[in-house]
Amino acid sequence: MNTTLLSADKDPMGAAIADYYKRHKAERLRVFSSQFDEDEIPVKELFRMEKQMPLLERTALQLATGKILDVGAGSGCHSLALQEAGKDVHAIDISPLSVEVMQQRGVRHATLLNLFDGHFQETYDTILMLMNGSGIIGQLENLPAFFKRMKQLLQPSGCIFMDSSDLRYLFEEEDGSFVIDLAGDYYGEIDFQMQYKDILGESFDWLYIDFQTLSLYAAENGFQAELVKEGKHYDYLVYYFFASISSIFFVNAANSSSLYKRVSITMRPSLSISTLRVMPALRSAYLAKISAPGSNPKG
Ligand code: SAH
Repeated sequence: MNTTLLSADKDPMGAAIADYYKRHKAERLRVFSSQFDEDEIPVKELFRMEKQMPLLERTALQLATGKILDVGAGSGCHSLALQEAGKDVHAIDISPLSVEVMQQRGVRHATLLNLFDGHFQETYDTILMLMNGSGIIGQLENLPAFFKRMKQLLQPSGCIFMDSSDLRYLFEEEDGSFVIDLAGDYYGEIDFQMQYKDILGESFDWLYIDFQTLSLYAAENGFQAELVKEGKHYDYLVYYFFASISSIFFVNAANSSSLYKRVSITMRPSLSISTLRVMPALRSAYLAKISAPGSNPKG
């Protein structure tokens, strides 16, 4: 995994964020890709307030609890909303200019840091990766390394909220079928390069991933992925937690304990927000129980 930071002369998005913060306007933040036509990111949207955020992002903010890590925090929009709600959040980004702006905007704990830098060893209850947060993983083949890193950064009862999109709609034919080259690279692996004024960034890989592929990789790497909510455009919010914990829960099925009854409701395929809120509490209660002296997790 790439563990480097950007330098200020190759940080187009950071330069756009800094300009917008200082002058309340910015020029075009241009986006190039070998797979798509030129596009641009409206810089103003990087400064969105909570009420302007898509429902998937607002949902993730509401569900984030405990000590929170905001990964690739950009201008700090999510961190500021969390701080305002009285939550404890640490914002990280590889963009020096963005981190400076976050600090100036009042994000209390903002650090210039690459998520994959193993020297960094804090642990968190919630890890947030928003605005196609799966992008930071880069390519499918990096997923095992990503989950390994998540294991290091998460508390045993911790969880990750990430949004992503299934890009399959880009390959949809008029008759509704999909033409995807299965022998080629995964269709959500995109390369991007950004430019702001004369600042040209390096090209980088950005992963869009469908929920099914993501859950398979999660399961192979010790995590369970649950779909929290779907957006209007093939986008969705996913919730991951350590699979070992949920499987321990299922062992309790044999006892048909009241805990299992509650969990079996929680585990239905599409989780509602209210049941999700219960999950971390249930898991910490269970962990406390199994770590108590003389207790036996299998009952
Ligand atoms: N979350 C913000 C910004 C999203 S853009 C928002 O929703 O507005 C993605 C951000 O991730 C960029 O600021 C980029 O600099 C940062 N980033 C990319 N790779 C990273 C990594 N490995 N570790 C930390 N931040 C990263």
